[in-house]
Amino acid sequence: MKILVTGAPKSGKSTVIFEHITNTTQPTRGMVTKELRQNGTRIGFDITTSEGQVIRLARTNTHGKFQVGKFFVIDGFLNYSFVDLQRIKANELLYIDEIGQMQLLSDSFSTLAKKYINSGNDLLASVSSIFSNDLTVEILKREDVIVFQINESNRIYISRIIQIALENRKYYNELDRRVALDVAKLANNYISSDRFISADKLFSKALRYLVEERVFKTGVNEYSVNGDNARHNVTISTSGWTCDCKLASGKKPYIKADDCSHYQAVLLSMP
Ligand SMILES: [Zn+2]
Repeated sequence: MKILVTGAPKSGKSTVIFEHITNTTQPTRGMVTKELRQNGTRIGFDITTSEGQVIRLARTNTHGKFQVGKFFVIDGFLNYSFVDLQRIKANELLYIDEIGQMQLLSDSFSTLAKKYINSGNDLLASVSSIFSNDLTVEILKREDVIVFQINESNRIYISRIIQIALENRKYYNELDRRVALDVAKLANNYISSDRFISADKLFSKALRYLVEERVFKTGVNEYSVNGDNARHNVTISTSGWTCDCKLASGKKPYIKADDCSHYQAVLLSMP
């Protein structure tokens, strides 16, 4: 599962990544960028790696070959090789915060970012939304990534959905590639239109229903899904779909009707 968080500076990208990396019990490998402040003013950035190294990324009170805004990128960062971070092990959750303008001035950093995105490992990374180059454009439009556009008002919901997605990634990783790509497409559709309940249902229930083969075809357009709480009947035809659960009909505790896990499981199990 590859999760990307994008958004403007101070939208909370780093916080979300830091939280999930700190809370996971899975081994991790990667880096986070931290800002440095003096009397409330940003004076630079450091990168902290999972191997315990702290790499000076940029400062205001120095000079260097590259300047981004008021920050000068430190020459030592540009020459840093990231050898330790390249030694990926199969079960590790990889993370990079962030794939941004200053970081991408380093060829070694760009190579590492490409390696992580192309690896078979799970990945949680943040991508700048105010800077783009060929690499950021390419990774954001990959069909196997799930992209969360974070801002101040959706931050809590996004963080929760990322948590649910990460908790259920073993089910996602068991799916055939074609189905996994369909899940990513569906998830991106829900997230980009603030349909967080349906995104929650997809990751917390539908993935598991698929892997546990809980969908049964009972008629031409009819299906039965053995849900966690009850069995539900779903119909899907060219004229639309129905399900007899509360979310599908917008009954309490839901405020409005939206895609339920039963419909999602049926949709994703269709050839
Ligand atoms: Zn339903």
